[in-house]
Amino acid sequence: MKIVLLGPPGAGKGTLAKGLKDHFNLMHISTGDMLREEMKNGTDLGKEAKKHIESGGLVPDEIVTKMVESKFKNDKNTKNGFMLDGFPRTKQQAEDLDKILAKVGQPLDCVLSLDASLSIVLERLTGRSVCRACGALYHIKNMPSKKDGVCDKCGGELYQRADDNEKTIKNRMEVYSKSTEPIIDFYKNKGLLKSLDANKEAEEVRQYTIKLLNG
Ligand code: ADP
Ligand code: AMP
Repeated sequence: MKIVLLGPPGAGKGTLAKGLKDHFNLMHISTGDMLREEMKNGTDLGKEAKKHIESGGLVPDEIVTKMVESKFKNDKNTKNGFMLDGFPRTKQQAEDLDKILAKVGQPLDCVLSLDASLSIVLERLTGRSVCRACGALYHIKNMPSKKDGVCDKCGGELYQRADDNEKTIKNRMEVYSKSTEPIIDFYKNKGLLKSLDANKEAEEVRQYTIKLLNG
């Protein structure tokens, strides 16, 4: 299966991808995670990305698209199927993705649109924490770790993303409405779009999605 996950920041794309990855044996490709890895390693790409990420803006299309193209060309694991999370985020990226996937002979099967209300995504983003070691996702109220600040899965340290603060979240929401939301129609017109109610509790969203994809 070759899937794109669409939805506002905090809709639960990463959580759903992690919950489906093993079930369907799919690769989870998160451009946000890839860019944060570049930042952590202090690469030129990471330094450029940092400026945009910390203000809540988008990293320029050429940079992110090149990074994704290189992933599809060089990582054999993408051949077994994938879930793209956080890409595409602009119409340009969506058009470029079509070209990249045509070149590697892996056209999309479907695009899952995670619908979640503004109040829900705000509550999710402000309470999110992430494991520094394995990337597991937690939420202070909805999915707390057993021990404060410690990952249940690997014992790693949990941290709050620098861009999960109120001011940056506001920018990210505006960017989403202006640049990313229009892609929903792009995929609807191609007959690829499937929508799901992402306001529900995580396991319910996961079970519903499994049925939808098997359907
Ligand atoms: P996205 O990848 O869309 O930005 P995440 O998967 O990182 O979103 O989820 C954002 C936050 O919301 C995380 O703290 C996560 O634990 C929590 N979360 C994700 N899905 C749900 C859900 N269905 N119900 C409640 N909380 C959720
Ligand atoms: P995410 O982890 O998906 O919430 O992404 C975090 C940040 O990384 C975003 O706010 C953007 O600044 C940047 N980013 C991730 N994916 C993309 C993309 N496809 N295009 C541009 N910027 C991106």
